[in-house]
Amino acid sequence: PPVIFSGIQPTGVPHLGNYLGALQQWVRLQNTAHPSTKLLYSIVDLHAITIPQDPERLRQWKRETLATLLAIGLDPNRSVLFYQSSVSAHSELMWILSCTASMGYLSRMTQWKSKLQLKDDASPLDEGSKSKLKLGLFSYPVLQAADILVHRATHVPVGEDQSQHLEFARECVTNFNHAYGPNLVAPQTIMSPAKRVMSLQDPHLKMSKSHSDPRSRILITDPPDVIHKKMMAALTDSTNSVSYDPENRPGVSNLLQLISHFNTEGKSAQELGLEYANFGLGQFKKAVAECISESLAPIRTKYEQVLAADGGRYLDHVWMQGAVKARESADATMEVVRKSVGL
Ligand code: ATP
Ligand code: MG
Repeated sequence: PPVIFSGIQPTGVPHLGNYLGALQQWVRLQNTAHPSTKLLYSIVDLHAITIPQDPERLRQWKRETLATLLAIGLDPNRSVLFYQSSVSAHSELMWILSCTASMGYLSRMTQWKSKLQLKDDASPLDEGSKSKLKLGLFSYPVLQAADILVHRATHVPVGEDQSQHLEFARECVTNFNHAYGPNLVAPQTIMSPAKRVMSLQDPHLKMSKSHSDPRSRILITDPPDVIHKKMMAALTDSTNSVSYDPENRPGVSNLLQLISHFNTEGKSAQELGLEYANFGLGQFKKAVAECISESLAPIRTKYEQVLAADGGRYLDHVWMQGAVKARESADATMEVVRKSVGL
């Protein structure tokens, strides 16, 4: 039977890109999967520390991320929700995979370069980048591969920015299985239609939790007045009308994409572009803000409830219960892995 695994970093409250690109798919899979399908969703705190974090703030973000997962409709009795660091097999398998993973492949990955704000063609071997680059940031795709492989996941729902990492995970499977026999399973990528939601401040960058400008993203817990403000400040262009033209009008087109993903009649960004053609940009942004606020309202209510439930102890109950189930799933794989390696 299929095994679905995915993760999110507790680097802040999830935004519309996370929601539309990944989290909404997690819920859809949960609600449509056959009962025999195993679903595991992890808050990957070990990944979050690849860049400097304040410990108290990280603890808070973990709780907020967990509350968000419950607020969007994940059911802890159906999906295993857990903190990555509470299942040590993830780290153990990472080490074992590191021993068959290729340095050359890792150094061609683009994400560590973008987190260091280096050019894509920079080599890890030039002195400037070498001193800034921490080993964990460089090797974290191996940990990500371990996250997936330790649960023998067959399907991984992620946004487009993760497709390179998924390919690397499959490469880890090939390398490991070549050395030790066919014991690990190669995962398939599941990509949502909203695979790349763009920043409100720079439509050439993806929306990110860790970008320094909070106006670049709408959090799924933002209240209507904040959504309205961020929307009015969104970077568009100087043509005061609406049309869908991703090439020449990336800002306006990103907003049309956004509302198309929320459109209950399934209208495309092109169709909505025609519908809003007579709107001025200010009027259009106001309509976009209203559409998003309305769609997020029930999530925000549930989020507040979940955070406060049982004096805050409900969340602890959820992740502890998840950790027990996730350990069981990971330990079964590790038994096979250790044996095949000779450990
Ligand atoms: P960070 O900036 O800290 O890396 P992030 O916003 O990229 O945060 P992640 O926790 O790294 O979020 O990713 C969680 C999931 O959300 C992944 O599946 C990722 O592909 C997806 N995702 C992230 N940003 C977007 C986006 N702008 N559009 C679509 N999917 C996204
Ligand atoms: Mg990311």
